[in-house]
Amino acid sequence: MILDADLTGRTVLVLGAAHAARRAVRRYAHAGAAVRTVTAPSELTGVAGTEVAGFDLGVDLVAAVADGQDWAPVLERLRGRALVVAEPAAAPGGQIVLVGGGPGVEELLTVAARRALREADVVLYDRLAPWQNLAALTHGAELVDVGKRPGRHAVPQDQIEALMVDHARAGRTVVRLKGGDPYVFGRGREELGAALAAGIPVSVVPGVTSAVSVPAAADIPVTHREVSHLFTVVSGHAPLSDAEHEHLAGLGGTIVVLMGVGTLHHLLAGLRRAGLAASTPVAVVERGYRIDQTTTYSTLGAAAARGTLAGCANPAVVVIGEVVRLGRDCPAEIASAVGVLAGAGA
Ligand code: SAH
Repeated sequence: MILDADLTGRTVLVLGAAHAARRAVRRYAHAGAAVRTVTAPSELTGVAGTEVAGFDLGVDLVAAVADGQDWAPVLERLRGRALVVAEPAAAPGGQIVLVGGGPGVEELLTVAARRALREADVVLYDRLAPWQNLAALTHGAELVDVGKRPGRHAVPQDQIEALMVDHARAGRTVVRLKGGDPYVFGRGREELGAALAAGIPVSVVPGVTSAVSVPAAADIPVTHREVSHLFTVVSGHAPLSDAEHEHLAGLGGTIVVLMGVGTLHHLLAGLRRAGLAASTPVAVVERGYRIDQTTTYSTLGAAAARGTLAGCANPAVVVIGEVVRLGRDCPAEIASAVGVLAGAGA
C-alpha cells in the first residue's frame, strides 16, 4: 500500500470489483497516477499467451485488491512486467465513524483519527476540528462543511445525522469529524444513536478535548498537586441556576467552562454570590493552538466589577480557580495575589 508517494505521470492498474476497489482507485488517483481498472478476471479472459492484453505496456504498478475474486492467473501473467502490490478491499457496506479531531491542529489528531480520514469516502466536518488540510489528510474523499461559517448557519443537527445515514446507506464510509472529543458537549451520542437506529455499523474515535488541551496551550494545568485535585467541566451554553453556582463554588477545585463567553458574566456573578473569593483567578484562553491564540487573565472580583473579560470571544475555554496562577504570562498581581501556591510541591 503506497500512501504518500507522488505518482504523477505514472499509470496504475487496479484489479478489483468496483466497490471493493474504490478506495485504492481514489488513493492512486489522489497520488497523481492515471488509474486503469479491471473489475473482474473475466474481463481478461481470451487473452492468448502470457500477455495481458492492453495492459502489457506502460503500467508502472498493479494494485490487486483482495476482493474475493481469483486474480492469481492474472497476476501470474503480469509477473515480472510490473510491480504488484496487494490492497485491502474497502468495507463492503456503508459505515459511520465519529471522530474526535482535537482542538483544531493537525498535530493533535490521533493515529486512529488519521487512519479513519484516510479511509473515508465522505467527511462531514466542523470548523473546530482541524479542517484546513483535510484534502491532504484524506485520499480524495468528498469534504462537506457542516459547521458555522461567517455569514452562514451551521447545518442543523438532524440534517447532519440524515446526511451521515444517507451517505452510509449508499455504501460509503462516512467520517463525522468533530472538534475535541465527540462525547464532550459534542452531540456524539446523538449521532451514534442515529447510526444505530438506521442499523449502520458505527464506531467512535475519541479526541483530545479542548477542556484540558486549551488550558494546556496557555500552560494552565487543570489539576496541580496541593493546588487543585479536581476539575469540573461545565457548558456555558445555557446559564446555570443559583443551586448549580453553589455546588460548583462548594467543590473547591478547578472549573473549566466551554461555550462560556456568552454567559460568562452571569457565571462569575453567580460564583461570587455563592461565596467564591473575589481574588479567585480567571483565565480566558481564546482560539487555542491557533496563531492568534490569546489568554486574558483576571479575577472574579475584577471581571465582575470592571468587565475585564468583556472583549473575549468564542471559541474560548474559561478556567476558574487557583491553577490559573500557574499559567504562562499570568500577571504578577494575579499570580501572587494570595500566595496560595507558596509552598505547593511540584
Ligand atoms: N467536543 C469539544 C467541545 C465542543 S463545544 C471538545 O471536546 O473540545 C465547543 C467549545 O469548545 C467552544 O465554544 C470552546 O469553548 C471550546 N473549544 C474547542 N476548540 C477550541 C479552541 N481551539 N480554542 C478555544 N476553545 C475551543
